[in-house]
Amino acid sequence: MNLKNVLTCLLVINLLSCSALPHKSNATADINNVILVIGDGMGPQQVGLLLAYARQAPHSIIKDHITAFDRLMQNGQLSISLTHSADSLVTDSAASATQLATGHLARPEMIGIDQYGNAQENIISKAKRLGKSTGLVSDTRITHATPAAFAAHQAHRSMESEIAEDLLQAEPDVMLSAGLSYWLPESVNHTVYQQHFNGLGKNLKSKRHDQKDLLSAAKNKGYTLAFNKQQLQQAQGKTLGLFADTSMVNGISEAQQQDNPLRQQPTLQEMTQQALSILEKNDQGFFLMVEAGQIDWAGHQNDTGLLLHEMLRINTTLNTLLDWLKDHENTLLIVTADHETGGFGFSYSAGKLADPIYLPGDAFANKHSFQAQFSFGSPTILDRLYQQKLSYNDIFKLFDDLPKQRQTPTELVNIINSNSEFPITEQQAQTILSIEENPLYIQGHKYLGSHKVAKMPVNGAFFPYQADNRANLLAQAVATQQQAVWSTGTHTSTPVYAFIQGSEPTLQPFKKILHHTDLGNLAIQAFKP
Ligand code: MG
Ligand code: ZN
Repeated sequence: MNLKNVLTCLLVINLLSCSALPHKSNATADINNVILVIGDGMGPQQVGLLLAYARQAPHSIIKDHITAFDRLMQNGQLSISLTHSADSLVTDSAASATQLATGHLARPEMIGIDQYGNAQENIISKAKRLGKSTGLVSDTRITHATPAAFAAHQAHRSMESEIAEDLLQAEPDVMLSAGLSYWLPESVNHTVYQQHFNGLGKNLKSKRHDQKDLLSAAKNKGYTLAFNKQQLQQAQGKTLGLFADTSMVNGISEAQQQDNPLRQQPTLQEMTQQALSILEKNDQGFFLMVEAGQIDWAGHQNDTGLLLHEMLRINTTLNTLLDWLKDHENTLLIVTADHETGGFGFSYSAGKLADPIYLPGDAFANKHSFQAQFSFGSPTILDRLYQQKLSYNDIFKLFDDLPKQRQTPTELVNIINSNSEFPITEQQAQTILSIEENPLYIQGHKYLGSHKVAKMPVNGAFFPYQADNRANLLAQAVATQQQAVWSTGTHTSTPVYAFIQGSEPTLQPFKKILHHTDLGNLAIQAFKP
């Protein structure tokens, strides 16, 4: 019981006994901490994949079939939230995170500015004004759209060098992710910086176009720098952790390396745990944003097996947060997505029918067996998705690393069929590798500027990351086997879940159909000065 509660008790002690007052978490709306978890691209169907895996996979690794989302429902409130940005039906991560961080409508691809182009105060600066600590954690990179929108103000998400400077100026107490390339001067002296990596042997490259050394600047501002798991675990106060040059490992690799004693990169769960232990030292409380950002990347590539692993990654991280929350009831936890990615879903089809089965019920007393007319998907598919050994991105990286003359359909079949439980044929490999004159060519465009691109059979405009489109074609090749369909290589307007946990009065305003600007404003308002 805090001092204010004690005083309240003393005041009312003649009227009723203190023990008759509701429990602290219900009695007061005083919120000290706000934790916002963003599953980037985590629409209802992505959550549904995890729930299906937990409940239906014959060999599910989830203990007692209880996911973190089940735990969130035990003590919290479920709302839905619309994600669209200004004058748009669909949003991207930059605008969506800006809307969450500032409560103002933004336009797609903007960072921390409103729809008119004006910088708006974000929840991090508000929290700082109130004497709270602040933190950003992401499994993508710290200058990527989602974390950036919580501390930076830039016209476009691609301005990551400027975003890194903004982050440093905003000075959140904890920043943990990848993206080292944007913090090193252009003429980086590799040997000097490599020693930070304890002999990892990485050939570090700067992505800046100036000589600014933001790592030294961060040191001068009092940040402890961490470049690996061990350094992160020792970090105490203000911490800047940059664990890879461009992005952290994907969910499949993270799971494979989990028990490797030589592992250098911390997991999303470990970064979150360490952020909590640093931030909780402030009696005034804190704001923490945690992003599971590669759910979106799996979605863009329509990589169902990877998506499952990314959902398992956020599940583990959420479990850590929920364990911590048990002893910290004065915390508002919001778990949501910035949008859905991929238009994913299991779907029934005219694919291979399940074998007829014999059923004991009266309805079949005079019939020999039951067989549905269509294929509704066996739950064993979930186990087979879990078995995927490489992301589609890594599969094509492996293929592209072969000498040119070995980049054949046969080799692609070999790579895919030895890393996935959903084999493809040589003919399918040929389709995946078919190229055409780019029907969407725009000279100089970062994503549409190639003359020759993978040949998309339909709706090519919805697969604009053309360099990755072989992955989307692979998804189409295995769709019937996986019983899974993907409708796009980008985002959809699907309303997303918002799981809220906090004191009862704090939950009240979330009990309606929200827009992400509402969600942002409610998070900001939860910090009563
Ligand atoms: Mg993101
Ligand atoms: Zn995306």
